[in-house]
Amino acid sequence: MAALKKWNPGAVVEWLHLETDIPGRYMLNYVFWAFRPCIEGYHYCRDVISVDGTHLYTKYKHKMLVAVTLDANQQVLPLVFALVDEESLESWRWFLRMLSKYLLPSEDDRVCLISDRHAGLINAINYVPAFKFPRGVYRFCLRYVCSNFNTKFKKIQLKDMCWRAGAEGNPRKFDRIMEEIKSLNEEAYDWLGRIDKAQWTLVHDGGWRTGILTTNMSECINEVLKGVRRLPIMAIVQITLSRSVQYFLQRSTRCNRMINANQQWADFAFKLFEARQAETVRHIVQKFDYNQQSASVVTLSLTGQGSRTYVVKLKHRMCSCGKWGAIGIPCSHAIQACRHFGVNASNFIPHYYSVQSYKNTYQGRFEPVYGEEYWDPVDFELVHNPALRARRGPVRQVSTRIPNEMDRPQVRARQQYQARQARG
Ligand SMILES: [Zn+2]
Repeated sequence: MAALKKWNPGAVVEWLHLETDIPGRYMLNYVFWAFRPCIEGYHYCRDVISVDGTHLYTKYKHKMLVAVTLDANQQVLPLVFALVDEESLESWRWFLRMLSKYLLPSEDDRVCLISDRHAGLINAINYVPAFKFPRGVYRFCLRYVCSNFNTKFKKIQLKDMCWRAGAEGNPRKFDRIMEEIKSLNEEAYDWLGRIDKAQWTLVHDGGWRTGILTTNMSECINEVLKGVRRLPIMAIVQITLSRSVQYFLQRSTRCNRMINANQQWADFAFKLFEARQAETVRHIVQKFDYNQQSASVVTLSLTGQGSRTYVVKLKHRMCSCGKWGAIGIPCSHAIQACRHFGVNASNFIPHYYSVQSYKNTYQGRFEPVYGEEYWDPVDFELVHNPALRARRGPVRQVSTRIPNEMDRPQVRARQQYQARQARG
């Protein structure tokens, strides 16, 4: 760790260890590390952090905690890592404090934390001001809500409706789906009613999660870490370093391609905006108010039937269809309204989707770490806590997370496949 810091100035390493009876010998409790280019890169991404914990299958029952965000091109950027003795209120609280110290140092920083429902994590938030409202909000991963819902009610049709309700950006459509759930199973409707709507539905989110519904991103990282979970701690740190370097190199190359193509927006927003622009051919702007920059937009169907009317308010960056508010990129109705007001609709795309932000995110450089023979000598010894030594033979893993269908191997395999697709 000292070597990592020596050759990567600004690399962050924090320990929490307990003294033992022997002077100079300490017992390892928690270790946290992060690379300066990742920390600096975060400031060019949106204010969303996803956290997750994963088991390590070493001699000790350590857990690895990871925090990630999404870059301008909607790809995972690993931010910080930690090894803790177990997932508990204390370890999550320590991890969140470290996150806040390095990623959210100012009281003006805002953050949306997305995760599944670890009891320790939810309680820990109360102790770290950076994650408490109004500086921060906590949101559930929608897939975990749906999985827990399905574990309870065991009906695919209901589970699909739960997903649709959570992902819907239009308040009227959301209410309609909830009514459908109620008519099928009142108990299921009440179960969802007991979860704070802001925490699981896009329509009541207030724009904090910028359309990010799941913790897919930390699962991508888990995928990256696959195969390293049996290695010693230093090897795990080295691998997180080399994978981060690999991300920076690949994405800098991709970014250069976008710059050479004179793209203003990274591929994700660029392609979505183009697709929405193409949808405007059958949109008619009926009436508009120049002062308020608001308009009604009628969408015509090919058959001439089933036309719909949406209200666009450019000053409020909203359209009643809900799509603009959900992900921040103007919907087709807003793009058509912009044409009538002589406004460039792409100016409304948030800056965190720009090629410039993408470039800034990956501008930091890493330095290689020399071999052990170059390391400075240390005058202390770190040992593991023998109480945390895993039992030999098959060990039943105990999780603080509410078990759900995600824990079934075939469901996990499907999620991992999707994660690989999303990683790009
Ligand atoms: Zn719209």
